[in-house]
Amino acid sequence: MFAIKAVTPNVKYTLRLMSYMKKSRMVNNITVEVKAVSRVYQARKVVNALSLKLEQGKILGLLGANGAGKTTTMKMMAGHLMPTAGDIYICGMDITQNPKEAKALIGYLPEHRPLYKELTVDEYLEIAARFHKLSSHRIKQSIAFVKERCGLADVGKRVIEQLSNGYQQRVGIAQALIHAPMVVILDEPTVGLDPIQIRQVRSLMREIAQDASVIFSTHLLPEVEMICDDVHILDQGHTVYQADIHTLQHHMQTRSLVAAFKRPTNLQALYQLPNVLGMYHQNEHTVVVQYQHASPAEALVTMAVQQDWGLYLLNEQQSTLEDVFIQLAQSS
Ligand code: ATP
Repeated sequence: MFAIKAVTPNVKYTLRLMSYMKKSRMVNNITVEVKAVSRVYQARKVVNALSLKLEQGKILGLLGANGAGKTTTMKMMAGHLMPTAGDIYICGMDITQNPKEAKALIGYLPEHRPLYKELTVDEYLEIAARFHKLSSHRIKQSIAFVKERCGLADVGKRVIEQLSNGYQQRVGIAQALIHAPMVVILDEPTVGLDPIQIRQVRSLMREIAQDASVIFSTHLLPEVEMICDDVHILDQGHTVYQADIHTLQHHMQTRSLVAAFKRPTNLQALYQLPNVLGMYHQNEHTVVVQYQHASPAEALVTMAVQQDWGLYLLNEQQSTLEDVFIQLAQSS
């Protein structure tokens, strides 16, 4: 249905999108819509009322620490796991009501690559293509296209297990692209790769976004900053932040003062300092004061002396991801 020859990937994508927009109920170019989705495991809610929207051609980074619920969320979006509650629409199609049709629009690379390592790259991609029921004519075209896109053109005859880790990852990504999906979901695509391979996979993701929307998970904030349009941060199954990358970068411009006191302090009084955005106790004696623009250090020292708090340490630091998490978790 999508075999459009002799056109650039962008044109091909637009044509395919138009065809889908006509057929489906997709509105405003939204390729993925997740509405209040939860997942319970053994009476524990590991994903809690998560909602998100992704537009065509955008890259969304799902960010969170270990156990935050990223893999569970991606499995549900890929149609590999039923939500306990909530709805997921792929190009306007309800994945629970129309699993076959919706899943045909998704390319998925799970956390553990689904590779048959004893096969050659070509053999494996052919199986992946047949799995998606591509016609014989289209199989050849698609294998050539994904090999080209993923930098595998020279290794088609190589046995997968003899390839480097980075190349095996590319094969995993290639299988996710074989049927020209509208949405590509990649679970931690750069984990375990060396810095050069990481850079290659990131630029591959940007290329994929020319043809499809991309959702990928990571626990690396710099990775999100480098390639995402949108960010969704999870903490213990809860959304603590979702916005476009520019808004996140604004948050990251926050700086902090780490101040340690011998005697109990009055946090309310510290809030009165100029430019303060938030604060939290790092431990019993130490308070992290987050601010923007000019540092309130001088005013803090003056206040600490006046109040006799016994200030014995004061350090400046750039906000870390942990700071942002804590700030967001406390304000949510
Ligand atoms: P990581 O970065 O470590 O892969 P994650 O953000 O992808 O973590 P998930 O794998 O989605 O997190 O796990 C979220 C929570 O759900 C964890 O506490 C995990 O132990 C739990 N969990 C995941 N799968 C199952 C399962 N099949 N049965 C029970 N609990 C599970």
